[in-house]
Amino acid sequence: MRLSRYFLPILREAPKEAEIVSHRLMLRAGMIRQEAAGIYAWLPLGLRVLNKIADIVREEQNRAGAVELLMPTLQLADLWRESGRYDAYGEEMLRIKDRHEREMLYGPTNEEMITEIFRAGVRSYKDLPKNLYHIQWKFRDERRPRFGVMRSREFLMKDAYSFDLDAEGARTSYNRMFVAYLRTFARLGLKAIPMRADTGPIGGDLSHEFIILAKTGESEVFCHKNFLDFDTPPASVDFDDPAALQAIVDRWTSLYAATEDMHDAGAFEALAADDRLSARGIEVGHIFYFGTKYSVPMKAFVTGPDGRDTPVHMGSYGIGPSRLAAAIIEAGHDDAGIIWPDAVAPFRVGLVNLKPGDAAVDAACEDLYAKLTGQGIDVLYDDTDERAGSKFATMELIGLPWRLVVGPKGLAAGTVELKRRAGGAAEQLSPESALAAII
Ligand code: ATP
Ligand code: MG
Ligand code: MG
Ligand code: MG
Repeated sequence: MRLSRYFLPILREAPKEAEIVSHRLMLRAGMIRQEAAGIYAWLPLGLRVLNKIADIVREEQNRAGAVELLMPTLQLADLWRESGRYDAYGEEMLRIKDRHEREMLYGPTNEEMITEIFRAGVRSYKDLPKNLYHIQWKFRDERRPRFGVMRSREFLMKDAYSFDLDAEGARTSYNRMFVAYLRTFARLGLKAIPMRADTGPIGGDLSHEFIILAKTGESEVFCHKNFLDFDTPPASVDFDDPAALQAIVDRWTSLYAATEDMHDAGAFEALAADDRLSARGIEVGHIFYFGTKYSVPMKAFVTGPDGRDTPVHMGSYGIGPSRLAAAIIEAGHDDAGIIWPDAVAPFRVGLVNLKPGDAAVDAACEDLYAKLTGQGIDVLYDDTDERAGSKFATMELIGLPWRLVVGPKGLAAGTVELKRRAGGAAEQLSPESALAAII
């Protein structure tokens, strides 16, 4: 992409309304724009990141055996009356009437709708287990939308829903998502710790929030510090092997980790002082087993092996890709701007032409641009007439993993300059060596 043709509305000044660094940097880097309180447009640079995050989430859901579909954002109130949640949900639900005065709502979550879809299509235990998910915009009329896309009213969510014949099967489905989440967050360059979370009226121990430690997090969390060094399950995990999944979950739940709601001060204080981590955290994912809470009132039954109808056991599993974009910035930035992990960077390389109009520099840039893009590498090519200082500031701000600079002086000596955004010195290399380092 040539910067001269792109849409990158950079702000030089820090916007006053932004209280936390990710919000400031997303606005300054031209990733998002607020259109109403808690409602954002994703500008081209932001959308690239959001899509990359969603793609990683999708790959790991698919790997774990979940199946993608897409449900609408608007739902009928009557569907929520079946589960009893229409009145109970409260003010976070945006309620709408259509021209026929039919009551509708903008979905804050999809348990009811997926249960309706499931019951219309599945009749026998032989069709189980199933896990269906979508990545769709949600609306929650948050009391205090703040911190940009971290707590917005409209936000993107991946929500998966599992269906099993019994509690034992449901535990395996739960474990699949638990392991998929560990892999997902690690691939996004994050250390997310699964913490015991409140299960609400259903009880049991099957709910975990996946938390990233960050000073600006809204939750207070308590955990054993060794979690920060735990290994991520490999891509070769057998998602069809319940014992292998259980072993991973057992290990990742073997040490203390709890959110404020579930905190047991006594158990935590019993740990050695050095092992205790009491910190702020960002909830980036939440998994939940809720048994037959929806299948009973909504009559999602299957015929069991004994020929009798039985309500399915369900779980739901959420991840917030839009919140993650901000969380990744909270975890990776410096005074100059964002430092993207390679996996979600909007472009891999920022190619800077220091003297557009200089035939040799233009030709060298075009050549590098063609070779990199030819290898499938996303390049943002700054071919504009801005001053060098401003070009560098923009590149630092938007945080692309590699910065490749071409100018007349270096070129006369046969070199270009390559620098890693995450750190390390700028190196003067031949164009071939620079390409080899990137590719
Ligand atoms: P929170 O405690 O932050 O209000 P929640 O517990 O209400 O979140 P869930 O219902 O568990 O959220 O939704 C699953 C995921 O959706 C969350 O873990 C989070 O990543 C994302 N999410 C929820 N609410 C928002 C929001 N207002 N803005 C952005 N992402 C959100
Ligand atoms: Mg909430
Ligand atoms: Mg929560
Ligand atoms: Mg939650």
